[in-house]
Amino acid sequence: MTNSNNSSVDIAGAAIPTGLFIDGTWRPGENDATFDVISPASGAFVASVADASVSDALDALGSADRAQASWGRTSGRERAEILRAAFDLIRQNRDVIAAVTTAEMGRPIEQSLGEVDYGGEFFRWFSEQAAHLSGDFGSSPRGDFDILTTKVPVGPSLLITPWNFPLAMGTRKIGAALAAGCTVVIKPAAQTPLTMALLVRLLAEAGVPAGVVNFVPTSDSAPQSEALMADSRLRKVSFTGSTGVGIRLLQQAAPNVLRSSMELGGNGPFLVFDDANLDAALDGAMLAKFRNGGQSCVAANRFIVQRAVADEFIARLVERTQALAVGDGATPGMDVGPLIDARQLARVQNLVDDAIAQGATVLTGGKSVPGNGHFFEPTVLVDVPPHADIANEEIFGPVAVVSVVDSDDEAIAAANDTPYGLAAFLYSDDVTRAFNATSRIEAGMIGVNRGLVSEVGAPFGGVKASGLGREGGKLGIEEYLETKYIALARLER
Ligand code: NAD
Repeated sequence: MTNSNNSSVDIAGAAIPTGLFIDGTWRPGENDATFDVISPASGAFVASVADASVSDALDALGSADRAQASWGRTSGRERAEILRAAFDLIRQNRDVIAAVTTAEMGRPIEQSLGEVDYGGEFFRWFSEQAAHLSGDFGSSPRGDFDILTTKVPVGPSLLITPWNFPLAMGTRKIGAALAAGCTVVIKPAAQTPLTMALLVRLLAEAGVPAGVVNFVPTSDSAPQSEALMADSRLRKVSFTGSTGVGIRLLQQAAPNVLRSSMELGGNGPFLVFDDANLDAALDGAMLAKFRNGGQSCVAANRFIVQRAVADEFIARLVERTQALAVGDGATPGMDVGPLIDARQLARVQNLVDDAIAQGATVLTGGKSVPGNGHFFEPTVLVDVPPHADIANEEIFGPVAVVSVVDSDDEAIAAANDTPYGLAAFLYSDDVTRAFNATSRIEAGMIGVNRGLVSEVGAPFGGVKASGLGREGGKLGIEEYLETKYIALARLER
């Protein structure tokens, strides 16, 4: 993998653009500035990517603003056809997209293929919604005039995405925004800009008009988003990332009263009741904990297990964890890839060391793997004191923390004992008991006897410090629409 020229890099036989995309044209960053993408699996150089300056980003916003009026006026059917074409292109380029994601984040290739399938579906889903936008019609209660509502696009939107699902976190926003008739400026995570660059190329090939999709990777996010959000041409920000950055962006959104969607961090509880099917609970636990190496906002952070089944659950969890294959995800058959960078690796190690210092017992793992990659051993910890950081912060790594409880009430209280409320998981074979528990668990999404909740047709999002708004499902498009109400006088009274 080398830069074949200034503007693209060859990965898996495909030319992946390395420039900015503004007003329908690929171009270098101001002063030809670039930053490097490094493989977290090996430390090897992957590509040099254009580094957008603040003035590049403002150019991108200008382009989105100029394109907004005509894009907002296109028919729903026209937008649907373009999104559908983009979905088809994603399917045709499935292997290349997955290879690019694995090159820049080290994740097992099979899981990258899974993300392509999941991520691509958002374009199909929103293409189906784009053609069916509708308002409402009614009368005032006094009957003296009519009430018409229509849906109109919010306007130019800034989409900021994280590195952990570099395709799907983009398509979930871009699909909804384009279907609604909004133009966009996309800012990918600096660790994984190439997946998004390829997606932007495919969107252009699918027929997205110039200016509708603009792409500004940068190594310095804060000044870029500050300048964009202070500019009154921007009408919306949609962010997926950590709660700390989300809070900062909400503060920056306030002066221009920007519509804001926030998909933030989690601290997912995974409850195993004493009547759970343990085979299913173990399968769900492995998926919820170790998919993407634990680097998922909906990952299980805290396993809360009832005493009657705790010994067996823990013993089998340790056995399954020890069987995981850890290595560069470009090699088929791996289960767990590296953490994204040295900072994350140090964070996870510190959380584990701190828990051990406070009395936690390591049943397996517990250390980083020597070498150039940022690998951490799949780990199971028990006896973690409730106040330890690892029980309260999002781990974002392959570390399972298991605690034992004596009742449903204790399990639910522990589940809710966090400022976060994104995903929760619950295993019980008693539907009534499980359903009662779901009504008391504070989370935007609850998997009952399932270790995975992400689904194109379902509303994804959190409560409490985990965010504002929903993505995907029927609600996702609403984040990009305003309701306009027209009071229509009757000619004859
Ligand atoms: P992050 O907050 O560090 O970065 C997310 C994005 O914001 C990146 O593009 C980054 O470059 C950008 N960014 C960083 N600082 C910024 C600033 N000051 N101003 C503007 N942009 C800035 O998060 P991350 O480490 O990339 O991703 C992991 C986090 O994302 C976790 O907390 C995870 O839970 C969360 N996440 C949430 C969801 C969800 O849907 N709720 C999905 C995936 C990830």
